[in-house]
Amino acid sequence: MKLSRHKFVRRLLNYYRTHFHIDVPFIILIDGTFAFEALQWKIQIDEQLKAYLETDQIKCSTTLCAIRETELLGKIAFGAMLILKQYEIIRCDHHPAISAEKCFQHVLRKDSTKQYFLASQSLSLREYSREHRPDLPTMLITHNAINLERPSLLSHSIVDENKKERLKVSKHESNVLKKIKEELHLDEDKNGIPKKKKKKAGVNPLSNKKKKKKSLKTQSVNGKRKRRRTRQIRMSSHLKEHLKELQKTFSIKDFFQQKTFF
Ligand SMILES: [Zn+2]
Repeated sequence: MKLSRHKFVRRLLNYYRTHFHIDVPFIILIDGTFAFEALQWKIQIDEQLKAYLETDQIKCSTTLCAIRETELLGKIAFGAMLILKQYEIIRCDHHPAISAEKCFQHVLRKDSTKQYFLASQSLSLREYSREHRPDLPTMLITHNAINLERPSLLSHSIVDENKKERLKVSKHESNVLKKIKEELHLDEDKNGIPKKKKKKAGVNPLSNKKKKKKSLKTQSVNGKRKRRRTRQIRMSSHLKEHLKELQKTFSIKDFFQQKTFF
């Protein structure tokens, strides 16, 4: 079943929130290519981002280098330049200005806020971000709309590693557990004797044991050997003593014979 657009976004945001702790306000780092594409499709970036990410806590931002790049492109990027100039400027300290791509790479490397999103039509810039900042979401305009990209393979592998790490018992925890066991004498039986470690479960030797032949006594009748079964009655020592006492007063044999008749 195809996920609805909103379900898809919620799931992605949840992923970044849970595993990489991204937090509002979201700072959307926008370059000239994204602004240019938005203009082509008459997309109001700010409004659509708020609706798409389902929050008003969004700060569209850019850098002076990105603005300078659109200025240098002249007439073709004039509209994109006007859009970028409305946004909050992130300090990058590039004098003279460098390309927006290099500038954004620098900004993303330096960032430690966990609030950035990258919005660019440049595949190489998005790939750079997915490789160096797998904890941050990337977005682009496709099909006349702003779309978040799925997390990179690197992002997924980091999440998997973190899950494994969380499941591991650290050396310190292991020592603490050992100490608690010793203090509570969990490794000893009632007499204070250390418990034997259980051997690794293997094949049950009894399951391989040959079946015992029933105890048979042989008796020679007219030269022929005839097998005769005997039945052994097991009795506890306590019961034996009790029976001895009974036999002193009456014949136990008679008692059983009477029981059989009635
Ligand atoms: Zn810069």
